[in-house]
Amino acid sequence: MEKREQLYEGKAKKVYATDDPELVIVSYKDDATALDGLKKGTIVGKGVINNQMTNRLMARMEKAGIPTHFVKELSERDTLVRRVSIVPLEVIIRNLSAGHFASRYGVEEGIVFPEPTIEFSYKNDDLHDPLLNAYHAVALGLASWQEIELIKKYAFAVNDVLKAFWADCGVTLVDFKLEFGKTAQGQIVLADEISPDTCRLWDAKTGEKLDKDRFRRDMGGVEDAYAEVMRRLLAHDGE
Ligand code: UDP
Repeated sequence: MEKREQLYEGKAKKVYATDDPELVIVSYKDDATALDGLKKGTIVGKGVINNQMTNRLMARMEKAGIPTHFVKELSERDTLVRRVSIVPLEVIIRNLSAGHFASRYGVEEGIVFPEPTIEFSYKNDDLHDPLLNAYHAVALGLASWQEIELIKKYAFAVNDVLKAFWADCGVTLVDFKLEFGKTAQGQIVLADEISPDTCRLWDAKTGEKLDKDRFRRDMGGVEDAYAEVMRRLLAHDGE
């Protein structure tokens, strides 16, 4: 399957058409942005890691009965996926307090919740992705109640699979962001990526951050952290 015209360029990925109208190719870049786009940089090798990590995790989701857009890895940075229209919601699941949850509610990072939480943001750069609830999403016509119920079910199922997998790798899954898409047939599927760009991953023993917070917070060792989580994933994948 070959790349045809570029359809879209996002912050971390480009999307290309193919000869099949129902399939597109995503190509992962090393570009990184943070702090609402104010901070820009490069994480060398990130595109390769995020592509390969996402694909292996998407395959695990499929195995667990969660439909995804994943079709086939084409190369180090390129993957064939089903063409979807992205539901303009960022779906965030949290197992421990961190990031905006900690700052918004004035609590420290690292509090283990009795059960996972879910929240939605309206995916809209001009509005800086404001937090919204399911009623707001329905009012704005972003999704139907049925779609939101399905998205919630899938998102918690992703958390169950992902949390257990990362625990086996000695990594605590703190929180993560998912995006869902709608196929031409109207099916809701998991889309976008699952990577250290979109998950907070802490070493289970030391609490060391192994994710994009190292870039956001200028902590150094960003490339090493991405390589370390990938190494742990590869050591446990295929079991
Ligand atoms: N996240 C993301 N993209 C965003 C916002 C958040 O991938 O635009 C991820 C982030 O990496 C973290 C989780 O969603 O794993 C929760 O992020 P939070 O709301 O705390 O915001 P952040 O502090 O990351 O901006």
